[in-house]
Amino acid sequence: MGLIDSHAHLTFPELMCQVDDVLDRAKDAGVDQIITIGTDLADAKRAIELAEQHTGTVFVGAGFHPHEAGKVADEQLTSMTSLWSQPCVVALGEMGLDYHYDFADRSVQRDVFAKQLTLARAFDKPLILHSREAFEDTAMLLVEHGFQNKPAVFHCFTGTASEAEQIAAMGWRISFTGVVTFKKSQWLQEIAKDYLADKIMVETDAPYLSPVPVRNKRPNEPAYVAHTARFLAELRGVSYDEFAEQSAQNTRAFFQLPI
Ligand SMILES: [Zn+2]
Repeated sequence: MGLIDSHAHLTFPELMCQVDDVLDRAKDAGVDQIITIGTDLADAKRAIELAEQHTGTVFVGAGFHPHEAGKVADEQLTSMTSLWSQPCVVALGEMGLDYHYDFADRSVQRDVFAKQLTLARAFDKPLILHSREAFEDTAMLLVEHGFQNKPAVFHCFTGTASEAEQIAAMGWRISFTGVVTFKKSQWLQEIAKDYLADKIMVETDAPYLSPVPVRNKRPNEPAYVAHTARFLAELRGVSYDEFAEQSAQNTRAFFQLPI
């Protein structure tokens, strides 16, 4: 059993233009399954098309990314929910709040996130959350909408140890990108070192955030999740195979992926 990249953007132009090669290289690197994330309606439709061409290998997360929040009309939210019922869509999102870039007004971001959460309640699928410098508001909206102790992952977690603890206490989880391999990420390495073995998951967030030792390579791609897995295995004092198997098992269970 190989690795799973639990969060990539295969439909972004840098990867989509060479997607067959990207998928071949992932396979060669031992990455068996990939969840590709569609960040608006058009992107989610492309992601579903790709998943339908690669059944069993590519799965989809679909939702309005907070960066897109300024462009989301109510009828688009309804269209998104019709995509959410597709069988290859294994997760709702990424959705959430980004107070770092502030590409959309914060109140608009909260509104679009809240509306997606309201709609998400009708689905029995886990949430993928994008939360950057916005932990308190993200957690508050999740609780307000009844998502305490419901499956939700703070993807590309780069928060504090205290936030990681609060996330665990609420029944949610975090996942790690190549950011954990960066030299400046000691605080994150401390969190990842002791993070729960039966919950840990890895992702690339490709085409962004290439891990060490390919940090200067652009674009990042799912094959490189193996570097992050190797780093985490070493950090946690387990073998690569053990880490790969455990993280894949966690990911498969969380997103209810087939073997
Ligand atoms: Zn993403």
